[in-house]
Order: sequence, then C-alpha cells, then structure tokens
Amino acid sequence: MKRVLTGRFMHETNTFSIQKTDMALWRRRDFHRDNEIPAAFRGTRSALGATFEAADKFGWTLIHPVSANANPSGTVTDDAFEQIGGMILNAVDNQGPIDGVLLHLHGAMVVDSYEDGEGELLARLRMKLGPEVPVVVTLDLHANVTQQMADNASALIAFRTYPHIDMYERAWQGAELLECAMRGEVKPQTVIARRPMLHGLDWGRTQQGPMAELIARGEALEANGDALVVSICAGFALADIYDVGPSVTVTVNGADPRGQAVAEEFMDHAWETREFTTVRMLSVAEAVARAREGKPGDKPLVVADYTDNPGGGGYGDATAFLKGLVDAGVERVAFHAICDPEAVMAGMRAGVGMQTTIALGGKTEPGLGGGPLRLTGEVTHLTNGRFIAYGPMGGGVERDYGPSMVFRVGGIDLIVITNNGQATDLAQFTSLGIDPTRYTTVCVKSMQHFRAAFEPIAREVILVDTGALCSGNYPPELYKNVRRPVWPLDPV
Ligand SMILES: [Zn+2]
Repeated sequence: MKRVLTGRFMHETNTFSIQKTDMALWRRRDFHRDNEIPAAFRGTRSALGATFEAADKFGWTLIHPVSANANPSGTVTDDAFEQIGGMILNAVDNQGPIDGVLLHLHGAMVVDSYEDGEGELLARLRMKLGPEVPVVVTLDLHANVTQQMADNASALIAFRTYPHIDMYERAWQGAELLECAMRGEVKPQTVIARRPMLHGLDWGRTQQGPMAELIARGEALEANGDALVVSICAGFALADIYDVGPSVTVTVNGADPRGQAVAEEFMDHAWETREFTTVRMLSVAEAVARAREGKPGDKPLVVADYTDNPGGGGYGDATAFLKGLVDAGVERVAFHAICDPEAVMAGMRAGVGMQTTIALGGKTEPGLGGGPLRLTGEVTHLTNGRFIAYGPMGGGVERDYGPSMVFRVGGIDLIVITNNGQATDLAQFTSLGIDPTRYTTVCVKSMQHFRAAFEPIAREVILVDTGALCSGNYPPELYKNVRRPVWPLDPV
C-alpha cells in the first residue's frame, strides 16, 4: 500500500496588515489535527474531500497530520510556521516511509523569517524526502509562486476559477497525477516564468479576459498531452516581497524544453494585457445613492465593499459604507458584516430583544475605512456562528465565525461576527435568521468571491471603495522588498 502524506497549510499574507498571524489566529477557525480531519472533510466537495476519495480509489494509506487555513491577515509568526510546518515535516520522520505527497497550500504565505513560506516548507520537505518522491501541490490562483516552489515541488496545480469553486476538481487532478508518478509512469518536473509585474491578469478574474484565455489554452495543452499541468497564477499584490506577482508554471514529463517555452509565451500575453481590468468601484456617496433607489419588493442590489475584503487581509471592520447608509436612513438593508468580538459580547450582555448602544467596528486601524460608530439598536439574533456552507464555494464544509449577532439599527439588519471572513455563502445570512432575497439592499465585504452565491439573487452588483486596507492605492515607496523595476510602480 502506498503511503501518501497530505494536509492543508493555507495563508494569503497581506504584509500591510498590522494583525500578526500567530498560533491563536490559526486555531481560531478551520484548524484540525489528525483524526479530526476525516470527520471534518470526508464526503465534502473540498480539496481534502477529494483526497480521501482518491485514497479510497487508489488504495493509499493517507497520513494527514494537520489541516490549517487561517483567514488572510498579516505576516505569519515564526512560531506558528514552525509549529504547523513541523506537524507536516515530522510526519515524514514519524509516520514514514512516504511514497508520495499531495499538499494543499495557498502560495502567498509570508513568515517573519521567510518571504516565501511555501518555498521554505517545500525545500525542507524535499530535503527529508530526497529527489525521487513525487510532491504534488494544489495552490490558490492568487499564489505568488517562486522558483523555490517550482524547484522543490514536482507539480503545482492552481485553481482555475475566481470565485474559487474548483478546489475539489484540482485536488482530484493532483491525486491522479500523483498516482501516475508513484507508479513510475511519469516523472513530473515544473518550470516557471514571470515578468516584472506587481499584478496583472485582471486580479485573477476568470469570467473573461486574459486569465480566462490562458486557462483555456493551458487546458488544451493538457488535453493534447503537451503538458501534464499548466497553472496560471495572478499573484497577490498586497505582499511586499521580492517574488510578488503573476506567474505561469508548466509541469512536463522529465526535462522537456517545451515547458519553459509555453510558460514564457503565456507570460508574454500576461505582460501585454497587464492594463486590462474589469474592476470598477464607486465612491461611498455614489453607492449610498444607488441603494436609496431601491423600492420595496425589488430584488436586492448587492453592494460589495471591495477594499475591506477579509479575503484579502482586510480587517472586516470598516464602517464608512455602513455610516453612509445609517446617515441616509436607507431601509430594508442586510449587511454582512462588522467583525468586532467586543461588540458581539456587548450584544450578548444586553440579550436578544434588548435595545442597547454599542461602539461598532473601526477599531483595528481607524484611519482606514472609517473608525468606530456608536449605534443604538436592537439585538435580534445571537448564535455561535457555526453552520454548514452548501453554496458553490462551501462544499458542505462547516464554517465557524465565532459568536455572532444581528443588530437592527433603523432599517438595517447588521451582522456582527467574531471570526473574520468574507461573505461567500447565503448561509452567512440565513444562519442568523436573515433571508437576503427579501432585502432591497444586501451589503457584503468581498472583492469577487461573493459573486458565486450572491450574483444569482441580485438585481445588480456594484463595488464600493471605502478606503480600507485592500484599496491597493499604495504609493510606490511603500514597497521596500519587491524586485525593481516593477510595473506599475516604475516605468518598465
Ligand atoms: Zn484566491
């Protein structure tokens, strides 16, 4: 029986965030050890769900020391990296021999001592395993992929959808490739190409434009047998690291020079189309005016605060748009969410059905996206914040937002949560007694992922810029570690 090491160690690090990602933050949600992992993921449409199914099909003995997926936030502490990375690395020593590895990583982890967290982990893993053991890695398409990652993994398989709804399919693709490699039928090797660009590929949007074109061309090469895997990554630009930016990696069988040629040609296209973007943001005043146009009975206008996206490291507590709605007296609004554990505690002390005044949100960095708001309202719902997400991105996996409440302020049903996270599933409203289809305006904090669940219920979708952490309007001098020159910070 083949012994396969698997696990998840996923983080998208926004190096401009002041929230350090320490062990406490990792443990706060989506963190499981050893025997907790099958119970949490078997039977779900998730990367680990697919991994368990593949193990059953191929007869693998699966070793799964840890599944850790912290919400995007600031730099990962050395202690957390060594603890969680150590769980994976120690499994090689304690539960080996290992015949193959199928790891689920994000690919944009920055650690206090390592700009390239995944590259460091994979290099250590390769040292332990030696050159022959196949290591297949799935990545988020917002990975900042490095030469060190390509050198130490046999194959890198990035998601191909944004909103990300193909984690299950990519894990299956990885499992099938790993099985072929363990049987000795192929010897996957991965090459990488990049360009001097901080971002590009329309921030990874896959509905149209260069990202969609390159993904389709890569899949055609895979189907023809010209490449084992072609992965297009848009990168994650809110990271002040040397290797930030888009990349194309191509996995070929043995040392096949066609891989590098394809990667370079694809990156030429990414470079030429670097200015292409479908992101259009409104000001707070414009978005509030649009919300006021809604009539009772209308399907919801869905307004996404692009710049306070917890999925990009935003604090989830920006208040600027909420303040605009309150000041304008807009009604029939459902709002997800303000992340503010203290406010939830204040609501719990008051109790369901009680009127109270709470200082809400804006506490992490009050200068970004609006400071705390003192609001008087009624606590209408309190939960533990746990439910199963069955939407397109949910996969039937349990979510945990910690103690949560609905606070009704005028005509606004405001959700307040303890564990930060962007709105990607309707159950983030319905689990708190809110049917979002019955509101004239639905507010979320998200750049793009919300679309999978919320576009189908919307009469229209708009994006608002509240000036929060993920605005991306950073002056060039803020980037100190990026390789230079780089577009758009320098004339290239
Ligand atoms: Zn992503």
